[in-house]
Order: sequence, then C-alpha cells, then structure tokens
Amino acid sequence: MRITEIGTVKNNFDSEKNPFEIKKHKSQIIIKDEFLEGLYRIEEYEFIDIVFEFNQSDSYELKATTLRGNYKGVFSTRKPDRPSSIGITTVKLLEVKGNILTVIGLDALNNTPVLDIKPVDFSMVENKLDHIRLEELKNNPRREIINDILRDDLETLLIKAASIHGHYCPGITLGVMAAVKAMKIIRDNSDGLEDLLAITETNNCFSDGIQFITGCTFGNNALIFRDIGKTAFTLTRRDGNGIRISTRADAKKFMRSAHPAFSESFQKVVKEQDHSKEEIIKFKESGKIRAFATLALDFDKLFKIEEIDVEIPGYAPSHESIVCKSCGEGTMSTRITDSTCFSCSGKKYNQLDGDGIHQLITKN
Ligand SMILES: [Zn+2]
Ligand SMILES: [Zn+2]
Repeated sequence: MRITEIGTVKNNFDSEKNPFEIKKHKSQIIIKDEFLEGLYRIEEYEFIDIVFEFNQSDSYELKATTLRGNYKGVFSTRKPDRPSSIGITTVKLLEVKGNILTVIGLDALNNTPVLDIKPVDFSMVENKLDHIRLEELKNNPRREIINDILRDDLETLLIKAASIHGHYCPGITLGVMAAVKAMKIIRDNSDGLEDLLAITETNNCFSDGIQFITGCTFGNNALIFRDIGKTAFTLTRRDGNGIRISTRADAKKFMRSAHPAFSESFQKVVKEQDHSKEEIIKFKESGKIRAFATLALDFDKLFKIEEIDVEIPGYAPSHESIVCKSCGEGTMSTRITDSTCFSCSGKKYNQLDGDGIHQLITKN
C-alpha cells in the first residue's frame, strides 16, 4: 500500500470529542514543500475533500453506538475508530496562501496527518443531494434535528420549532434552550437519545419548544403534562434518572435586557387586549427580535438545572375500540360504559385547554 502524509492539520482542537464543534471553526492544512506544486489551481474549487488519518484512534469495534445514539456497524458510520483509520470530510476552501490552505468544516484534530486532497465537483452530485436527504429523513425523520442539537445550532432549531408553534416568542425560545441543554446532558450520561420522556409543568409556548426538540409529544405518549403552572420541564430516560430545568424567578427581568420594546408590546396586546392591526404587527416583530436575542443570553442566569429521580409511568396501554350503541362511533374501551360513549351518556370527562386540565360534562 502506498500512503503518504502530504501535510498536517493545524487548529485549536487537541482533544475535542464533538466533531460538530470542530467543524464550526477554521482549520489550516500545511502542505509539505515537496507536494506544493500539487496545489496548482486548487483555488478554483469552493469545496474540497480532505482525506486524513485518525492518528489518535488505536482500536475499533465492528458495531458501536454513534454520536447520534444509533447502534450500527462501523461501515455504516463515520466514527474515527475503524479498521483503516482514515477520515474523509468535505470542507469549504476559504484561502490558499503558498502551502497553507484555510478551510472551514473540517472535523480533524490539531496535528492530524493529511493523506490526500480532492476537489468536489458538485455537477456530479447536486441532483442527488435532495434525493439522498429525503431518503435519510425517511429512515429517521428526526435526523436533522438531532444534528442541529449536537451542533448546538440554536437559531436553526428555534426556526424549526416555530414551524409548529406558529410564531416567535421568548417562551418558545426558553423551551428550545432548556430542551437542547437537557438533551445534551442526557446524551453525555448515556449512549443514546432513545426512549425519553418529557414532563412539562406548563402548557404554554415553552412546551412547544420542549416537544419539538425532545421529540416527546402529546401524540407519541412520551409527553407528560403536570398541571402545576411552572416554566419548567424534566427530561428523563426510562431508568428514572432525570434532568429538571426550571426558569429562575428573576429570568423575566434578565430577559427584558434582550429587547425591552417587547415588554411594552406584551403589556398592550396580551394584558390590555389591544388587538389593533398596528399593535399586533409591532408585537410580532418585537417578539421575533426578543426570541432570537434571548438565545444569546447566559443560560445559567435564565435557568436552574438539577438531577432528580423520576417515577416513570408504564408504557401507554393499547385499548380496543368499541362502537358506541348510541352514536355509532368507535371509542376507546376505557372511555365507554354500557356500550355508550361519554359524549352520549353525559358522563364527566377530562379536557386539557388553555387553562389546564378540567373535568367537564357534555352538554347535549
Ligand atoms: Zn409563543
Ligand atoms: Zn356515542
């Protein structure tokens, strides 16, 4: 085998474990003098592939858990620990100066030996990219969200979370921030992100951030609503080791510093119910500015984190469906008495709405 070290990576990362963190920063590749001519016309390319040696890896497993928490064979992953300790990463070429290439997007540590460089010709792959992305999302619909969490890309996550919430506001920002933090802590303490439960203590904007980021929702029974009215939530694995994150009592005051105009608008539109077009536009705009500005605030001034033991409810039971003799609609067996549904019999039932959980009686 003829493999030659053509150069070395230089950056500020000597031991970083999270490749997404390294990718966010610039790296330099110092090419050895004897290979300098090989760089001729490389600046014509915006993207290049860097082939390098994982020289700090000294063992491998044929099956292991990936950074995203999936258990896979080594050739289905990009893990550094592999039989041939070779890495390939597509990077953006920012500058070529003599024998120094400055790139961004490389996930190699400082002093990594570089084995080869190849230009990326997007005319060969461009049409395939959308197709590949869709196939990947069909296999794991939360793949991009998990990547954004690992990258700590709060802005992208806030934009995506707002797609279910409908607007930007400080509440959903707090939910996104708290949930990303909890997901990272839980992941660091275990080998994956599966089988999580979220317990939210409020049913306002905050909870949509929690649902979107954790993937624990009303529909998949992994979201528990504890109706106690606090901007707080707990993320736990099924072993009951949970992380509770609550907003500090003075967080509101601190957040005002992120965009004071929002507080005036909030007072007019929400508290005084001024729903004039002009005020609504101002409210939305300042909500957006406050929401994104809040992302930059000091996490520890906004939130308190604690480790707690959580009593875990059983998996959601699956009940058979029985047809109501009165209305003819299929009804879950635990919500039917004498073959009559609660709506038809006028029996009390629970409802979750803007004011929490209530017991109601059908009015026919
Ligand atoms: Zn909101
Ligand atoms: Zn009925």
